[in-house]
Amino acid sequence: MTLAERELSGIGVGRGLVVGDVRRMPDPLPEPAEVLSSLTPDAELVKAKEALAETSADLRDRGARAGGLAQEVLDALALMADDPMLLSDVTVRIGKGATAERAVFDAFASFASILEAAGGYMAERAGDLADVANRVIARILGVPAPGVPQSTTPYVLVARDLAPADTALLDYDIVQALVTTEGGPTSHTAILAREKGLPAIVGAKEAAGLVDGDVILVDAADGEIIVHPSEERIKNAMLEDSERRLSRSQSSGPGKLSDGHAVALLANVGSPASAGDANLANAEGVGLFRTEFLFLDSEAAPTIDAQQAEYVSVFEQFSGQKVVVRVLDAGADKPLPFLSDGNEENPALGLRGIRALFAHEDILRDQLTAIYRASLAAHADVWVMAPMISTVDETVKFVTMCHEIGLANAGVMVETPSSALLARHIFAEADFVSIGTNDLTQYTVAADRLLGTVAELQDPWNPAVLRLIQEVGSAGAAAGKPVGVCGEAAADPLLAVVLVGLGATSLSMSPIALADVREKLSRFTLSEARKLAEIAVSASNAVDAQRDVSSALNE
Ligand code: PEP
Ligand code: MG
Repeated sequence: MTLAERELSGIGVGRGLVVGDVRRMPDPLPEPAEVLSSLTPDAELVKAKEALAETSADLRDRGARAGGLAQEVLDALALMADDPMLLSDVTVRIGKGATAERAVFDAFASFASILEAAGGYMAERAGDLADVANRVIARILGVPAPGVPQSTTPYVLVARDLAPADTALLDYDIVQALVTTEGGPTSHTAILAREKGLPAIVGAKEAAGLVDGDVILVDAADGEIIVHPSEERIKNAMLEDSERRLSRSQSSGPGKLSDGHAVALLANVGSPASAGDANLANAEGVGLFRTEFLFLDSEAAPTIDAQQAEYVSVFEQFSGQKVVVRVLDAGADKPLPFLSDGNEENPALGLRGIRALFAHEDILRDQLTAIYRASLAAHADVWVMAPMISTVDETVKFVTMCHEIGLANAGVMVETPSSALLARHIFAEADFVSIGTNDLTQYTVAADRLLGTVAELQDPWNPAVLRLIQEVGSAGAAAGKPVGVCGEAAADPLLAVVLVGLGATSLSMSPIALADVREKLSRFTLSEARKLAEIAVSASNAVDAQRDVSSALNE
């Protein structure tokens, strides 16, 4: 019997196309009923003890098989199941008439609330405890343990989302692709998949209806799932995928859209070594040279000569090409002892970036002088920009100083909502602008980009962020000046198209992302990119923005 083909959509993460059999991760167990046990306390206690011991042994065994970091994670979980305080709490609860499963549930919950009250790292471990409790309860009840299904044959894992013990252990020879019904593009699943190069689709709500054994085609690049794909569909999709791979491997020229509209594809670098990677990836130059990375260990401000030598060794690798140098962005997670005040309570909102440099103007002048001298010694086209600009006055002060020193192309980074909204005035003063979407996102949603607890908010697809970028894009076009994007957003191929539609004239990213972005851009005209940008900014949240753009492509 041939089953009817149907399409589901979600948010594609990474790339790649896989056809495989679905294996579902069992849904979380319901909370055990609060009823008096019909067994003796001794009998319940035996069940609880056996289940705790078996769970601990299973976690250790899986850790030993996985090795490395996964083993550390799983051993830590096993320790939770072995905890003598926890067992004595379970014993007391069973003594009062609870069933083994309810006693385990309550004892783990009380353990978790202690960790949550402790805050910080301990609070983050509370989620792991729930995962261990579920494994123990499943053993007591004799039902499949929640977690990644064990299999010796490859399959596509379909889950609501993944728990830490599962993500740590994925066997990439067996799990061919991931589909989750929940989670956004910055969920742990997405981050893991992107890192491991595993094709994934997240937030695919309709995938909740998939059952074990369904054959599905997962096309991560387009965020598309085809259930029961026909032979012909598989053949065509495979063909399209291999064409994509081919064009990716062949994509080496300057970045451009399918109508020829040029979008310079540049690299983010932080050292002479990473400059080498940029060259290998055919970057057209450097869009962000993070100079502070060179001096993170320096106790004292580096001399002009020492800086000049470092800059020359980067510049000379981009002879004839553009290199955008960012002056020291000290503060927050990158404190420099000679620039940062270590006592700030909220360093991301303190004397960071240009603010610290204006507070130590001699250091800024020395750096600009070193950059200028290095630009004369090498043959790169050196531009310079300031991070963390929030006012027009800061822009004027920085640009004037650069011009006085001899640096002709002086721009600023737009990383705060303030500078985005003032873009028209900023363009009147600066020679160019580069949008740092990492910080622009953190400051727009007021969520510390270093905090895991608010990581879900750190999504540049947020239409509020995109509207700010649109503001900068329009102001740049009106001024006829370059608008770069150098945050991680530029490395997301689909978002890169949207950014161009919003007015970005160049994109800068980790060298590894260049080929995918180059290939994706080559599939759209400028008017298509603008339409996609309109769709994205009209959405009400990040997940919808990405999903609406993906759906528009599938229509
Ligand atoms: C950014 O904020 O997007 C950016 C490119 O700068 P950094 O990530 O170094 O803060
Ligand atoms: Mg930044």
